[in-house]
Amino acid sequence: MIAAQIQRLTEELPKKVTLVAVSKTKPVAALEEAYHAGHRDFGENKVQELCQKAEVLPTDIRWHMIGHLQRNKVKYIAPFVHLIHGVDSERLLAEINKQGAKNNRTIDVLLQLHIAEENSKFGFSYDEAEALFSSENTYPNVRIIGLMGMASFTDNEAQVKEEFETLSRFYRKWNVKKALTTLSMGMSNDYKAAIAKGSNMVRLGSLIFGHRN
Ligand SMILES: *Cc1c(COP(=O)(O)O)cnc(C)c1O
Repeated sequence: MIAAQIQRLTEELPKKVTLVAVSKTKPVAALEEAYHAGHRDFGENKVQELCQKAEVLPTDIRWHMIGHLQRNKVKYIAPFVHLIHGVDSERLLAEINKQGAKNNRTIDVLLQLHIAEENSKFGFSYDEAEALFSSENTYPNVRIIGLMGMASFTDNEAQVKEEFETLSRFYRKWNVKKALTTLSMGMSNDYKAAIAKGSNMVRLGSLIFGHRN
């Protein structure tokens, strides 16, 4: 079932789109099934769970931290995390930079933009991201390689498309100047709209692993 979904999605998705299999709350056996189907990019939203899974699973897995990240937990994932999607403040950026330096590496991150109407979702406003991109980069151990956004949780497709379009436009405004490569948008219920608007990284959980409790 999981392997079949991975295969189906790999065939369906355009070549330029990276599939992050969102395995939060799922047991190690579920990740192993995806791994044996050839999948290597996994997303988790809790540091402790990510670390526990990384400890027992193969080391060639690329771990994506997709959830809200507290500054005091950066140190646990800094030695090995592949990409941090949810960078939503400069203080977090500064902490990732500090932990990157300690681990003698440059950590790839995405700036999370607040694109949804709900105020429960984290992220920079467009004005804040604009200010950050316009300032000198003072974080040598962090590489901002792109943007991440979560659309509103609604059946209003026009609204979701518009939120993706606005993020995509902002990405295209900066991608050349800032050498951005990654636009992470799209989840199980809206990834097609996201790809149509230019996403090249989708984060799919329930579509691959089934519903979470
Ligand atoms: C849980 C989660 C996903 C995956 O959600 P599905 O609807 O199961 O595909 C994607 N992105 C983030 C940030 C998440 O927390």
